[in-house]
Amino acid sequence: MFTTIDEKRIDKALAKEPTSRDFARVLAKSESLERLSMEDVAILLNNPGRHTDELLFSRAREIKKSIYGKRIVLFAPLYISNLCANDCLYCAFRTSNRHLARTRLTMEEVRRETQALLDSGQRRALVVSGESCTEREFEHIIESINTIYSVDDGKGGIRRLNVNIAPVTNEQFVRLKEAQIGTYQLFQETYNRETYHKVHPRGPKADYEYRLGTIDRALEAGLDDLGIGVLFGLHDYRREVLSLLSHVEHLEATHGLGPHTISVPRLEPAQGCDLASSPPWPVSDGDFLRIIAILRMAVPYTGIILSTRESPEIRRRAFALGVSQVSAGSRTNPGGYSSTDALEQFSLGDHRSLDEVVRDILEQGYIPSFCTSCYRLGRTGLDFMDLAKPGDIGKKCAPNGILTLKEYLSDYASEETRALGESVIATMHSEAPDPLLDRLLLRVENGERDIFV
Ligand code: SAM
Ligand code: SF4
Repeated sequence: MFTTIDEKRIDKALAKEPTSRDFARVLAKSESLERLSMEDVAILLNNPGRHTDELLFSRAREIKKSIYGKRIVLFAPLYISNLCANDCLYCAFRTSNRHLARTRLTMEEVRRETQALLDSGQRRALVVSGESCTEREFEHIIESINTIYSVDDGKGGIRRLNVNIAPVTNEQFVRLKEAQIGTYQLFQETYNRETYHKVHPRGPKADYEYRLGTIDRALEAGLDDLGIGVLFGLHDYRREVLSLLSHVEHLEATHGLGPHTISVPRLEPAQGCDLASSPPWPVSDGDFLRIIAILRMAVPYTGIILSTRESPEIRRRAFALGVSQVSAGSRTNPGGYSSTDALEQFSLGDHRSLDEVVRDILEQGYIPSFCTSCYRLGRTGLDFMDLAKPGDIGKKCAPNGILTLKEYLSDYASEETRALGESVIATMHSEAPDPLLDRLLLRVENGERDIFV
């Protein structure tokens, strides 16, 4: 059964004026780290007061800390094509944008881009492309995935490749699985039908139902690592958050498995797209942070992804509230890491290099992680969920995160970042000695790479 969004239930939940007792009940419920219901989340969304924000934020911080510890996982997008058959009013790749030079990377260019990412220290990448429904475009995606995985830098190469590409057929999902992708991400953009049709006037993406049912089809085809998301700014954020929850509830009830990640892009200006510069439902920084905190409480075990669309300041504040993965050093144009001429998909809010982002994360007391071990040991889908209990995942992710940080510091970091990183590792070691980790760190120091527990 394909997803439907329960609009009536959303209306009813939002119409209710919550009392402070309701609010306190939901806060208490979230202590158990259970997923919250749509009604619970509506109570949180309907409490815009400053005082309650602080309560929300501190609860979200506690959840983040207990499940994810101090790790922030890093990745970078790799745009392989900006050819697109759709006309999304917010995106510079839209088919009617005549100012955009269209490019589909050759395999040599894909190799160069991959090498550039590896040279900066990245280990996780996200393949991104426009939507072109031809067989040839799909083969280009598969070929690009194979090419990216094949680039050997002697240090383990790109170890996990997620994809953010348009819906594909069931058979093509099976091919993506065979190509060993990590997460398949697809954002509904807006769950509101009317807005959806307005902003997606033509092309295959104009079919709301087809897009909404895509994650169901991917699960049915055997993928078990899926990411969903909303493009905030297109519609009322409170309805979008509840719709996301409705989507999660449906996936869990139908397939026994919810999404592995939720992405929270906010509309950014994009060349030739008036709508992107003046979003119909702008989301303020305060509301954006509230959305992240509420999602952290609502789906504690689902990773939250933040991109370089956001400024360094917002990204810093979002780490503590629940974000677990961030992109860094990103380019949003095909070929952007090895050349500079193509037009980007949208404007970035964070232009810093990976090294600067790593240093910043360390300065705030977090551990930048490039870990990919769960995926490589087959700990995905329900296996990951079983492991993702407080404490359990910490026993694997914390040491693995530190080992990948150590690799980064040894091979790629600037002197300043390396000194800071080494002192953070030393402090953690003195606070919680771990003989196994010590031995593994020594192996990294002696030149071994790609070690995990
Ligand atoms: N073309 C595929 C699709 O639309 O699903 C996948 C790649 S698309 C480049 C990835 C995401 O970029 C979209 O799902 C959309 O949420 C986001 N995006 C597009 N224009 C944007 C903008 N102006 N600001 C922020 N995000 C944007
Ligand atoms: Fe094409 Fe995706 Fe951009 Fe829409 S968001 S125009 S489908 S690349």
